[in-house]
Amino acid sequence: MSEERNLNFLEQIVEEDVTNGVNGGTVLTRFPPEPNGYLHIGHAKSICLNFGLAQKYNGKTNLRFDDTNPVTEDTEYVDSIKADIQWLGFEWAQELYASDYFEQIYNFAVQLIKNGLAYVDDSTPEEIAISKGTPTEPGKGTPYRNRSIEENLDLFARMRKGEFKDGEKVLRAKVDLASPNMHMRDPIIYRIKHAHHHRTGDSWCIYPMYDFAHGQSDSIENVTHSVCTLEFIPHRPLYNWFIEQLAIFPSHQYEFARLNLTYTVMSKRKLLQLVNEKYVTGWDDPRMPTISGLRRRGYTAASIRAFCERIGVQKRDNMIDVSLLEFCIREELNKTANRVMAVLDPVKLVITNYPTDQVEEMTAENNPEDPNSGTRTLPFSNTLYIEREDFMEEPPKKFFRLGPGLVVRLKNAYIIKGESFEKDADGNITTIYATYFPESKSGGDTTGLNVKGTIHWVSAAHAATAEVRLYDRLFKVEDPGNEEGDFKSYINPDSLQVIKNAYIEPSLLKAKPGDRFQFLRKGYFSVDVDSTVEKVVFNRTVTLKDTWAKEAKKG
Ligand code: ATP
Ligand code: MG
Repeated sequence: MSEERNLNFLEQIVEEDVTNGVNGGTVLTRFPPEPNGYLHIGHAKSICLNFGLAQKYNGKTNLRFDDTNPVTEDTEYVDSIKADIQWLGFEWAQELYASDYFEQIYNFAVQLIKNGLAYVDDSTPEEIAISKGTPTEPGKGTPYRNRSIEENLDLFARMRKGEFKDGEKVLRAKVDLASPNMHMRDPIIYRIKHAHHHRTGDSWCIYPMYDFAHGQSDSIENVTHSVCTLEFIPHRPLYNWFIEQLAIFPSHQYEFARLNLTYTVMSKRKLLQLVNEKYVTGWDDPRMPTISGLRRRGYTAASIRAFCERIGVQKRDNMIDVSLLEFCIREELNKTANRVMAVLDPVKLVITNYPTDQVEEMTAENNPEDPNSGTRTLPFSNTLYIEREDFMEEPPKKFFRLGPGLVVRLKNAYIIKGESFEKDADGNITTIYATYFPESKSGGDTTGLNVKGTIHWVSAAHAATAEVRLYDRLFKVEDPGNEEGDFKSYINPDSLQVIKNAYIEPSLLKAKPGDRFQFLRKGYFSVDVDSTVEKVVFNRTVTLKDTWAKEAKKG
């Protein structure tokens, strides 16, 4: 499939570079997560892009942790990020950490100072902001801008030694206070932060800023194509300036549009709030747009890769409909998931003319979409469970399911006719009575009866109980991150419905966490890690049809 489509704009750039022998025709990309949260579907887009570019042009991809911010980072995140990338099906050439370059990056800063291109500034953040001017007025600079090289070298060394408190001094690059690009107006490149780092411990109390770490790390690794999201466009001149001034490997930065999905928030900061404030059960809650959440929900790696391929790579910000992601998993599971019977809202059905002590093993096709999927057997007896909604006391005209006097086929079994029912004191139907046509068995029906509807069932004596978690969208508005007020006030109160006692066919007792099925007529489900020997727990991955599209049309 990927061979047939046109090249995206990044592939065009890389292909041209390879053809022209730029960097000897080699391609090295990197995926640079900050280990301050779990990866989400937006990161998957970046992963598929970076690894995909390298694969296509015989290159390699490094996994580089952008761990220059000691306060928010953690090894738990490092481990989850590695697991998620591997699960998505990609292998990195090298596992690297920006923090491993701290000494080298420090030396780059010293080099800039020696060349008169960086200075230690004692100003407060407010003073620095004012000294930068405004977009329409050039900056005037601070009194520290003209410190001598010797003084700067001495102060920077003492910053490193820990002689100053957080915020007391910063190191700034001396670029251009009149530049129309505010990022070029003497950006801060080092700050003092007396904080423990998850890898370097207490050996550093000064840390490089993003702009003085990212490009330098790219260059140290000989990254040829450094791909990032659009908000870094204004940083590119600075990226190039540092590389030129330091005369290091000429990595180049390219930008693409980040993925935004409807009904979803994607920033790690917001996702962390959902976790910390317990709106969800964790980073891997099946409603989260994280890779681990989608995996637990039942998404496959292939469906996520297919989604990333389908959305392509753009130069302009846009919003992708989450139903496209749902479409991708539905399409795959339609081909691969075995069909099984599960009754989510059970009511008892007694077949009065079926022998009470008889049990038949009915044959059921596992997946009509897959000729190699084989068959299984289903025990059938005189007492079954069917869905409550499949019976109506007073059915309207086009109701092709069960009701008094109505005939319906029980999937893989017999045609039955509704006869009568019993109710409890509250008026709820407790038992339905029906008769069956002995000559109507699936595969050998000789009755000639024309029956419009087919419903699913399980045998009461043979069924196992299961917990079924029906997940829906976590937010009830299209763009929760851009609404008035707190994004958490737009959480969908019905994003999870738990069914404690669903009945499942006995073959499902063997199901293991991660196994995926189509519950006939109900949707695609996967076995959750919370399953126990006593009770299987299923997560609804996706419904059979896009129910929200229908809502929108009605609306
Ligand atoms: P967030 O805003 O969610 O915290 P981030 O950009 O801070 O994301 P990083 O860990 O720095 O997260 O991201 C690693 C890589 O993934 C970066 O190259 C970044 O551009 C890319 N990335 C992050 N979010 C998206 C997204 N929504 N779509 C595409 N790429 C993304
Ligand atoms: Mg980032």
